[in-house]
Amino acid sequence: MNIFEQCESKVRSYCRNFPAVLHRAKGSIIYSESGEEYIDFFAGAGALNYGHNHDYIKQKVMSYLDADGIAHGLDMYTSAKEKFLVKFNEIILNTKQLDYRIQFCGPTGTNAVEAALKLARKIKKRPGIFSFMGAYHGMTLGSLSITGNTAIRSGAIGTSNSVTFMPYPYGFMESFDTIEFMESVLNDVNSGIEKPAAIIFETVQAEGGIIVAPIEWIQRLRKLCDKHEILLICDDIQVGCGRTGSFFSFERADIVPDMIVLSKSISGYGFPMSLLLIKPELDIWEPGEHTGTFRGNQLAFVGGTAALEYRESSNLEQDVKVKESFLKHFLIENIAPINENIKIRGIGMIWGIDVANFGNSSFAKELTSRCFELGLIIETVGRNDTVIKILPPLTIEMATLQKGCLIIKQAFEDCLSK
Ligand code: PMP
Repeated sequence: MNIFEQCESKVRSYCRNFPAVLHRAKGSIIYSESGEEYIDFFAGAGALNYGHNHDYIKQKVMSYLDADGIAHGLDMYTSAKEKFLVKFNEIILNTKQLDYRIQFCGPTGTNAVEAALKLARKIKKRPGIFSFMGAYHGMTLGSLSITGNTAIRSGAIGTSNSVTFMPYPYGFMESFDTIEFMESVLNDVNSGIEKPAAIIFETVQAEGGIIVAPIEWIQRLRKLCDKHEILLICDDIQVGCGRTGSFFSFERADIVPDMIVLSKSISGYGFPMSLLLIKPELDIWEPGEHTGTFRGNQLAFVGGTAALEYRESSNLEQDVKVKESFLKHFLIENIAPINENIKIRGIGMIWGIDVANFGNSSFAKELTSRCFELGLIIETVGRNDTVIKILPPLTIEMATLQKGCLIIKQAFEDCLSK
């Protein structure tokens, strides 16, 4: 471990919570260099919805490499990109009757968020953006300016950038009509808040603590944007690509955003890829106006196409429903009864155990450390890291899912008996 501590910057984070040298991984299991086995309830922070080294996707990537397929292509036309575009249009956009232009950004999610902000401001010729309290959109200056977490914002002075944080329906704000509040702000010429170019939102705040927006709230948000001619941007980086069941997380509310940001699991294999979907009439970019060297990771196109083919040939959506039901029942029946202050929240295959009002302030961290000792990789999110986030690959075998859940239960028992 010494070499990492000696050479790597202090900024390193996840490795501090999981102090093992990881070496190999298959499906939902990660193996360390020293031979330990860990069940993965973290899934690369949502980049590994299909698990590690998925057989079908791997085989497609290997044959592409084997045939000396082009590896780096900026935004040139390539056959790997062509196949991805055809498949994405065919099985995602066309079947859902959605019409979007696809902008490849890169290489990670935050860059597509930056593109969305730039484009919205360019279209509306207004600087303002509404984001939500608890939101997470990335770490570069634009995306950080719309991220709520004060601890991470403090590292980048001067992030305010015409952003107003509106209340998300959570905690006290659940009993408060947050849409009506935005409506009154927009109608009040003396509110001191200018009409924004766009409102950016997550249908489930993942880093924010697994807060699931009600369907009606999402629908009213869409209507509010229509009424005031504000663009609606859905950040589906973490909970898109099937995490909540349907491919896009907003499908449950039957709305159509003006722009959608996708990344993480879109490449199917953990390769970096991020894209912005833009309604055709909003695609007013000049050529090269938002550019970058790594916008065409060809392996990501190959992996992404294979992942879509796999989706098409499998029952993934149905599978997620079955696992959602298992997770919900397990957590309600086995974890919630431990204490009345424990809150369970979630949808699809993203669930949170909120222990903010239970145990000491570092109880969630103690739990995840104990889980790690017992062979489970799982992270904390939310205000002051007080929510345990269950985020396994969607493809996890039922037996492994059950085993991981029993480890969480065991960790509660162990930490409480201390
Ligand atoms: N938006 C959301 C909702 C996210 O969860 C993340 C990553 N956790 C990002 C944006 C930023 O993506 P990246 O880390 O790939 O830049």
